[in-house]
This record gives sequence, C-alpha cells and structure tokens, in this order.
Amino acid sequence: MLPARTFNNAESHAMSEKKRLHTRDHSRDSGGLRYVYPVVSRRAGGVSIGINLNPNDACNWRCVYCQVPELKRGSAPDIDRKVLEDELKCFLEDVLKSDFFERYGVDPEYRHLRDIAISGNGEPTSARGFAEIIDLIGSVMADYDLVPRLNLVLISNGSLIHQESVRQGLMRLARLGGEIWFKLDCVTDEGLTRINNAAISVARVRENLRISSVLCRTWVQTCVFGFKGEIMSAHERQAYLDFLRGAKQPDNLLKGVLLYTLARPSQQPESSQLTAADPEWMQEFSHEIEALGLEVKVSS
Ligand code: SF4
Repeated sequence: MLPARTFNNAESHAMSEKKRLHTRDHSRDSGGLRYVYPVVSRRAGGVSIGINLNPNDACNWRCVYCQVPELKRGSAPDIDRKVLEDELKCFLEDVLKSDFFERYGVDPEYRHLRDIAISGNGEPTSARGFAEIIDLIGSVMADYDLVPRLNLVLISNGSLIHQESVRQGLMRLARLGGEIWFKLDCVTDEGLTRINNAAISVARVRENLRISSVLCRTWVQTCVFGFKGEIMSAHERQAYLDFLRGAKQPDNLLKGVLLYTLARPSQQPESSQLTAADPEWMQEFSHEIEALGLEVKVSS
C-alpha cells in the first residue's frame, strides 16, 4: 500500500511506465496505486482515469460475467480520503503531461482523456461517506480546472440509490456535470437472480432508475451475451423493452442505453457457459430500443 502523501515526478513517471495500456487490460493495478488506475476504455473511446472504491473485491451482486477475480460479497471498505486525494492529484498531473499517451503506449485512436470513472471491483456506492467522496473528487477536478470540461462517470449497479447518502452523492455528481451508468441487464425477478445473483426486486430497480433519472444524467448500461446457448429469452427481451418504455419520461434525464457484450473472460464459475453476442444481434436489438425514442451506443 502507498503512504498518504504526494508523489514526486520520478515516482509518478515510474508508476506510469509500468506497462502498456490496452483495451484488453482493465486490471485495477495498472498504475500500482490503491484507488486510482488508468484504463483504455472502448466504451468511453479513450483513456479513463478509474477510481476503484472496492479494492477489497467486494460487491453486493455477483453477475455471471463479472471480471473481478476472487469476487466476494460485501461492501466497499472505509476509504482513506487523503490517499485517494493524493493519488488522484498525482495521476492528473501525470496524465495532463503531453507525453503521457506515448509513455503508456496507448494506441493513437485512444489518445484522449475521456473521463474520470468511479467504478472498480465492486459496487462503489456502497462506500461509507459516498457523497463526501464525490465532493473530494470534484474538488480535485476543480483544482485542475476540469469541472465541467472532463466528464465524471459513476458506474453502478444502482441497487443502493434509494439510500440518502447515495442520493446526495448523485445530486453532487450532477452539479459537477457528471453522469451515472446504471446497470440494467434483466428486468424480471428470475433474470436478476440468474444473471446478477442480486437480492433486489424489479420494483426496486424501477424506482431506483426513476430516482437516478430525476437527479442526474443517466445512461442505462446493458451487457448482452449468450448464457447456456441463449442470449435473451423472448419474454426477457419484451420485458426489457416494456421497462424502458416506462422509464423514459419527458422531464427526466434518462439519456439512452450503452449496449455492450463480453470483451474479456468472466472470472465467475459460469464463465465457460457464456458467449459474446454477435454484432447483428446487437444491432437488431439496438434498433428496437431506438424505436422507444432512446439513443443507443453499441460497443462490441
Ligand atoms: S455489479 Fe459489477 S462488480 Fe458487482 S458483480 Fe456485477 S459486474 Fe461485478
């Protein structure tokens, strides 16, 4: 673990030279820090600065496609905010230097800093003091004049949004010009159990998406894939479309759907039963969603 202090240039440089960054590599230790890591994101279309609030590999869900090795059930640990602040400052100083992308060997098409993404090896909103953590990140961004020039993204399964501290965090995220990517793979109780191993009802998911869309710019993120030979049952597919039709309201901030498939192997026992969805299937599905009046961004 790194001590809570500011890193000097040599340390920062050595950290960033550890390895070449590639879209296939989403390991959270790419920079050797506790909370902050760089990642080349296909979905973001460039380099993201990731903030992992779950270095203990703990999540309240267990999605069958989850790529976290040794994932366990649980919440984020207490976050050492001084360490997080130091790491983020250090990393921003490094990434804003003109030779950063070259040093990391980033492919030319991805040589843009796209966002800061709060996600990690578990559910980030389970961190105690989540709203204050958003404030801290916003304040560091402001120090580098990045609000609202750089997008701040919260990648979440949305299951804790009804909690007051998380709602407060979303309001503060919105004030920073940020957005949430709200996981929505299934909208039946059976599907939520089968795919996400989540102890949550469809009614709760619906209400949490409503709260999210009222408070903050919201994109639904949906992973489609074959499981035991079937991508999505006809019943599940229709339920998903009906659910989205009801979720989109003229006065809310639901922007659309990020549709993606498996790009890296699952680290869960079901891994061998999963297959990526083919591009034609995804395109056809995206057209059905677009017909509801929602924008769809497909990444395969
Ligand atoms: S919500 Fe994310 S971190 Fe949690 S199990 Fe699912 S994919 Fe893994």
